[in-house]
Amino acid sequence: AATPLSGRVAVVAGASSGIGEASAERLAALGAHVVVLARRAERLGDLVARIEQAGGQALALAVDVTDAAAVRAAAERVAAESGGADLLLNNAGVMLPAPIEELAADQWQRQIDLNITGLMNVIGAFVPQLVQAAGARGVADLINTSSIAARNIFPGFAVYSATKAYVTHLSRHLRAELGARNVRVSAIEPGIVGTELQGHVTDEGARAWLEGSKETMEWLTPQDVAETVGFIASLPPRVNLQQVTIMPTGQP
Ligand code: NDP
Repeated sequence: AATPLSGRVAVVAGASSGIGEASAERLAALGAHVVVLARRAERLGDLVARIEQAGGQALALAVDVTDAAAVRAAAERVAAESGGADLLLNNAGVMLPAPIEELAADQWQRQIDLNITGLMNVIGAFVPQLVQAAGARGVADLINTSSIAARNIFPGFAVYSATKAYVTHLSRHLRAELGARNVRVSAIEPGIVGTELQGHVTDEGARAWLEGSKETMEWLTPQDVAETVGFIASLPPRVNLQQVTIMPTGQP
């Protein structure tokens, strides 16, 4: 099998389910040594076992990415044990839609804490490794998981969508800054993907809207997005996919 990512060290944040889990498996299958981060240690352990059974290399580090010190400690372990990351899939996120008038301030804060502050904690801890790796080997990748919510309007999704607009716009800025250092920055913007994301939604209206959408379209699978992550990272060093929007065919 072709292993375009052999010799690379890929960190996946938010790897215990959904898009992150599938991407970790895909990156490992493409030859990368994968480091998987999330809070649920048992899920990460199962993932590492599966990757190793398939002939890949993986390390699990249970970490809450909203804890900046814990993320820095994880980055130090990655540096010590595998020489530093040259690929980062910054993917941990939560979606908690509700009409704004419900004033679900705790859910607003959870989304901001994870989708923005957690994302920045991971960037702060790993960007120095990416820059160093790019200097040494000519290319590194920072791939942020955004969403079509970054640009489309879905009533009830204001706070989530705003966090994803942050991710997309941040990515464009970082691309302009880090491209000169051979670090490619990409934002992936998926439409609906069947994962655990929908299971955390408590608002009845949003739950019904999501569930009802299954009648008019076939949702993407996490593997569909993982394939795209692998494609972005396998391109020649001069090629940087700035933004990739991946939609279920039937989603308007
Ligand atoms: P999942 O809920 O399946 O995955 C979310 C991942 O984030 C899990 O591994 C979870 O692990 C991790 N995570 C949550 N909180 C933390 C935390 N505090 N610290 C570390 N890790 C954390 O959903 P998806 O795979 O769908 O979501 C992945 C990304 O894709 C998100 O950024 C989401 O916004 C985005 N996205 C998803 C779409 C969809 O339709 N599914 C569409 C567009 C974008 P754990 O709980 O173990 O910590």
